[in-house]
Amino acid sequence: MIDSTIIKQAVNDSRDGISIADMRQDDFPLIFVNAAFERLTGYTAVDALGKNCRFLCGNDRNQPELALIRGALFNGEFCLVTLRNYRKDGSMFWNELSLSPVHDQSGALTHFIGMQRDVSSRILLIHRLRQQKEELQSDNEHLRILNNLDPLTGIFNRRYFDNQHKIQWNIALRSHLSLSLFIVDIDYFKQYNDFYGHLHGDECIRTVAKTLGSCLRRASDFVARYGGEEFVILVCNITELQSDVFAEQLRLRIESLNIAHAKSPITDCITVSIGYCTFTPQLGMSSRDFVATADEALYTAKSSGRNCVISRRCETQT
Ligand code: GH3
Ligand code: MG
Ligand code: MG
Repeated sequence: MIDSTIIKQAVNDSRDGISIADMRQDDFPLIFVNAAFERLTGYTAVDALGKNCRFLCGNDRNQPELALIRGALFNGEFCLVTLRNYRKDGSMFWNELSLSPVHDQSGALTHFIGMQRDVSSRILLIHRLRQQKEELQSDNEHLRILNNLDPLTGIFNRRYFDNQHKIQWNIALRSHLSLSLFIVDIDYFKQYNDFYGHLHGDECIRTVAKTLGSCLRRASDFVARYGGEEFVILVCNITELQSDVFAEQLRLRIESLNIAHAKSPITDCITVSIGYCTFTPQLGMSSRDFVATADEALYTAKSSGRNCVISRRCETQT
């Protein structure tokens, strides 16, 4: 049997705070605290003895860990929690507290032994790491969005279109839905730039982009800037007739903006030519054929005098 004076010394020399509460007295007062408890909390034994150890929480009573402690005390069970405690000078520290029940020979609960350890630096590090992780995630999300946006107009860029139209093609292929691709190109834009200057040219591109975006009706439809003064719009699940009406609306909306274009050989305002293709994807075709077909339609629209809408059927490659 080990000498009890050695055990006393071990308790007093412990670097963790040790306290003992008497469970047979009203409100379970502390009847012992060691030197490390005094150092950790700033309370002397004289301050602490006779009090329930809840005084260490001050007014910070809204901590879920307190319910765990109450449950352990009530059931006479061990528990380990980390909670906010306050030193005598009011400063907060994170207390990793273990509570171990002591029973007498008849099995009745007599005491609880509390072990306190200041884990503030560890918890603060965890909080900082968590915050940095959240900041990184938000930066990544921001980068991801920027990667997919065109800086001049704020609409999606070609990278987004290239990824997205393949995804939508595959969805439409599986679900036997139609897809419509519209390629919109500003007419005689080189002349516009040469006459009005590049800055006005930029402004015109922005206005056209915004106007095309305002024509979209469903969340799955999107417009992207495909190149300099060229835009693509992808719409799923509409008929050829609806596509034709929609393309004509797009053309008309741009024309009715009435952006002066003194050097246009066909009219006196900015116009667009639109080539489009409506198709229900089938095996044996690729989304690349789809884009190429809409592009051919645009070419025909240009050679047919511009400021018009031309559609083309998508032929299955065999
Ligand atoms: P078409 O009717 O056949 O489409 O003739 P176009 O003059 O519009 O076509 P072309 O491809 O010859 O010229 C497109 C012009 O678009 C040339 C280029 O200077 C201009 N452009 C491309 N990107 C930008 C841009 O970001 N800002 C401005 N201001 N102009 C641009
Ligand atoms: Mg053009
Ligand atoms: Mg062009």
